[in-house]
Amino acid sequence: MLGPVILAASRSDKMRRLVSAAPGTKQVVARFIAGEIVDDVVPIVQDLSNRGLEVTLDVVGEDITTVEQSYAARDAYLELIGRLKELGLGERAEMSVKLSMFGQSLKIEGGEPGGLSVEGGGGRREGGHELALSNVRPVVAAAAEIGTTVTLDAEDHTTLDSMFAIHEELRKDFPQTGCVIQAYLFRTEDDARRLAANGSRVRIVKGAYKEPAEVAIQDKPEIDKAYVRIMKILMEGEGYPMIGSHDPRLISIAQELARRAGRKLDAYEFQMLYGIRSEEQNRLAAEGHRMRVYTAYGTDWYGYFMRRLAEKPANLLFFVRSILTK
Ligand code: FAD
Repeated sequence: MLGPVILAASRSDKMRRLVSAAPGTKQVVARFIAGEIVDDVVPIVQDLSNRGLEVTLDVVGEDITTVEQSYAARDAYLELIGRLKELGLGERAEMSVKLSMFGQSLKIEGGEPGGLSVEGGGGRREGGHELALSNVRPVVAAAAEIGTTVTLDAEDHTTLDSMFAIHEELRKDFPQTGCVIQAYLFRTEDDARRLAANGSRVRIVKGAYKEPAEVAIQDKPEIDKAYVRIMKILMEGEGYPMIGSHDPRLISIAQELARRAGRKLDAYEFQMLYGIRSEEQNRLAAEGHRMRVYTAYGTDWYGYFMRRLAEKPANLLFFVRSILTK
């Protein structure tokens, strides 16, 4: 019941202001967000790496409103890649990006007076889709130069055709570019078949957005069943499956499906979020699994934080308690 309410609040500016100003918020946010700037996150990457864990780094942010913000997002990732290069961490840390932060959802009237001329795109381009592609391409190229890659996160269902088209375009030059699919969407089994056949790196997750019944399964056990069907498609396919879940049942089913598909331990990986089930992360790594920790940092943490609250009511309780005790 609470989940959908929190997810609706994750898109409200009024709630954003209230939550951001509440006493105690910072302390709870710190459980899920690794810091505000690159210098905060570097020691965390080093620590995770020393513990045998790999990382995917997310500079938090979404729902931007100006083209300048999309350039700032690109530059934040380029700065991050520069630091990883200096520290020799390129091979242990990949990046996760939300294309909405790169301009995908901006309404841009191309060709009109005052319309957009996107730099670095080889001439005039139109629309948020093109803007996002031209912003993300240099990030993917810089990541490839230091021996790592980028995964395109899945946002709400209205953004996915554009995300998959950008993924396909990027893979022409950078085949290691990954993308995310969400088990709760009806479309996902078809997407999984296509991506498994073309050898993509694919992260499968349950899905974190509030989606209508016309496009998404609403019943949790049914989402889990879909997740298993999709894992099977990915494990039997040509690509590289990335199992993004904290659910112990799904993790053990993934291991069994990988075994049946004849996949070695380096032919798939597990992924979990920073701050969630850390002991399980260590356990899987100690068993020889590739375990990647999705580590988010940055100042625009609101949407990411609210989705973490929506996933587990106990987080909300903890949050409310910490406000009341301040
Ligand atoms: P659940 O059934 O939700 O959780 C299983 C157990 O894990 C819970 O019982 C609890 O013990 C623990 N747990 C789960 N979530 C939390 C939490 N927030 N706080 C504390 N404990 C928790 N979603 C997208 O829509 N797009 C993406 O691009 C995306 N990328 C992701 C990347 C990674 C690496 C991961 C792990 C998740 C990502 N998600 C993404 C979120 C995902 O869709 C789910 O909302 C989230 O993973 C919770 O589902 P679960 O599979 O962990 O199972």
